[in-house]
Amino acid sequence: EEVINKIAAGEVINRPSAVVKELVENSIDAESDKIEIRVKNGGKDLIQIIDNGQGMSKEDAKLALQRHATSKIKEANDLFSIRSLGFRGEALPSIAAISRMEIKTRTEDKLGGTLLKIVGGKLQKAKDVGCPVGTNIVVRDLFFNTPVRYKYLKTTSTEMSKISDIINRLALAYPEISFKLSHNQRKLLESPGNGNRLDGILSIYSKEVAKNMIKVEHEDKYMKVNGYVAKPNINRASRKHQSFFINRRYIKSRILSEAVSEAYHTLLGKNRYPIVILTIKLNPILVDVNVHPTKMEVNFSREKEIFTVVRDGVKKALDKSDL
Ligand code: ADP
Ligand code: MG
Repeated sequence: EEVINKIAAGEVINRPSAVVKELVENSIDAESDKIEIRVKNGGKDLIQIIDNGQGMSKEDAKLALQRHATSKIKEANDLFSIRSLGFRGEALPSIAAISRMEIKTRTEDKLGGTLLKIVGGKLQKAKDVGCPVGTNIVVRDLFFNTPVRYKYLKTTSTEMSKISDIINRLALAYPEISFKLSHNQRKLLESPGNGNRLDGILSIYSKEVAKNMIKVEHEDKYMKVNGYVAKPNINRASRKHQSFFINRRYIKSRILSEAVSEAYHTLLGKNRYPIVILTIKLNPILVDVNVHPTKMEVNFSREKEIFTVVRDGVKKALDKSDL
């Protein structure tokens, strides 16, 4: 069991940003509207996620540390049920297996909460504590018992920029959640969480960028595209500033980037890319989506339809605005 956890962990939890992504996604799933992420030394020393979500009972928290213990029902409308098969109910035990973890959690219907301490996957302590409703997870000394993995970590600033990147994108996708990120006690981001997408964009980019974003709203028979794209004068030298979300999960997709490029067509010079934040809603029954858990790279069936709806949505937005 312990060995399996370590192997599973190595495959998907390959760096601090993967820990952050999994834990923050859990906080989002628990319906938090405030999520604070504290990081020390690029996540190598400490990652702490504090949310105000549903929390867990003592029994559920203990259960969550076992493999494949997921409270999330695999419904047909869970787009990522395929991904889920790969990694459902594995994040928490995987991370616990390769770190020193502390979980403090409380549900609304209880006056007190639970504290669990786990070292290298072994539960060392479980006791009652006073704590606010929600979940507070501390992950210390990541990879302390998998030295090979530790050796492959990049510099603190590289690891930290990967973490920032993920939180920035999540803040863009979930404007109704307030995200706060700090590194070595220095605040890097605080998104307002007021539901306004442009305010979210403003907390990450400059005023200049926020001022020059165009709203995208488009749908066809199968799917809906919403979000913002930048006017052609606001562009970047890479696709790093293009974020796509399918049914609110961040994904990477070359196809969708290409759809955007095609919509801009002659509006942009060679190797220039607009800032893009697009959310695609679709009925998961219609597409077969396959996500590689670490790469977040998606394979679709019906690629062509998705390509078309994104291209047309962006085109329509560009046509309507005065550039
Ligand atoms: P999954 O998210 O696929 O269910 P995880 O290993 O990431 O698997 O989490 C296991 C379970 O632990 C979740 O299904 C959920 O019930 C519980 N859990 C994890 N993190 C939180 C959190 N921040 N708030 C409430 N429950 C949580
Ligand atoms: Mg999870």
